[in-house]
Amino acid sequence: MSSPATSAADLPDYAPIPRSALGPAINDQGYYVGRVERNLYYVTDGVYQSAFLTTADGVVLFDAPPSIGHNLQRAVDEIAAADGVSNRVTHLVYSHHHYDHAGAASLFEGDVTYVGHEETRRLLLRDGGTARPIPEVTFSGTYTLEVGGERAELAWHGPNHSPDNIYIHFPDHDTLMFIDVVNAGWVPIYNTNLTEDFICGPLGRLATREDVTLHQQYIADIEASAREALASVDPVPYYMRYGESGNFWAGVKGHLDAVTEAAAAPVIAKYTGVLAAADVEIFTRTTTFAIMQSLRLDSGPSGPVHP
Ligand SMILES: [Zn+2]
Repeated sequence: MSSPATSAADLPDYAPIPRSALGPAINDQGYYVGRVERNLYYVTDGVYQSAFLTTADGVVLFDAPPSIGHNLQRAVDEIAAADGVSNRVTHLVYSHHHYDHAGAASLFEGDVTYVGHEETRRLLLRDGGTARPIPEVTFSGTYTLEVGGERAELAWHGPNHSPDNIYIHFPDHDTLMFIDVVNAGWVPIYNTNLTEDFICGPLGRLATREDVTLHQQYIADIEASAREALASVDPVPYYMRYGESGNFWAGVKGHLDAVTEAAAAPVIAKYTGVLAAADVEIFTRTTTFAIMQSLRLDSGPSGPVHP
C-alpha cells in the first residue's frame, strides 16, 4: 500500500485517455443531455448517466445519480421546453439500489411513483436511509412500465453487478440500459466492478455493441490468462516457505498474488491505449484476481488434490 500523497505532483502519470473513451462536452452547469432515440434521452455529468422518457403524461426518469443531482430536472426542463412536452417527472425507476445511481431520488419525493425490483426494495429497507425512497411498485421477474403510451420493459435475470441490478429495455427505441457492467471505453474498476456474471453503464457516453464486444474480449483475455497462470505458477515454494510456521494464509497470499501478477501483466500491456485506464494497474489486477478466484472456486480446481 502507498501512503497518502501530500502533493498532486507526487502522483503518477498514466497513458493518455483514448478519444473513444470520452463523452460529449458538459455545459456550464455540469451536465450534458442528449437524445438516444426520439423521446428517449440521457443525461450525464461526464461520468454517471441517467435516462428519461418524455410521454404524453409526464416524464419517466431512470436512475438519479447524486453527482447529477438537481441537473436531472434542469435537463428534463431543457428538453421538455424544446419538445413542447410536460416536464413533470411522474415515475422514477431504480436500476439497482446503489447510492451512486440513486442518491438523488428523494429530490422528486411527493411527485413521483418509485419503481424497482423487489430486491432493491429489500436492500433499501435494510440500509437505504432517506435519500432513496422505497419503491412502491415492485416486481420479481419482469415488469412492463407503461406511461402515456410509452413502454419500458424491466427484467431481472439474476445477480450481476449487484443482487438487484435489472435490465431496462426500451423496445420502441432499440435501447438497453444496463448499469455498471460495461463501462464504455474503459476498463472496469476494481474487481470487475463487483460483477459476478459477465456480460452500459456510466462514464459519460453511451455504449455501442462494439464497446460490449471489446469488454467481453478484455474479460475473455483475463480469463484465458488466469487459466494459464493458474496452471504455470508453482504454488509449492509459497506453501513451503510459510508452511513451517503454520501461516497457511501467507502461503495462499504469496501464491495467489503471483498468479494474479502473471495473469494481469499481458492484459495490461495489450489494453493500454485501447481501454482507458488499463494502465491503472490495480483495476486490471483486482479484476484478474476476482476472475481467477471464480475460476478456482466456481469451476475448479481450487488447488492440487492431496496425494
Ligand atoms: Zn452499482
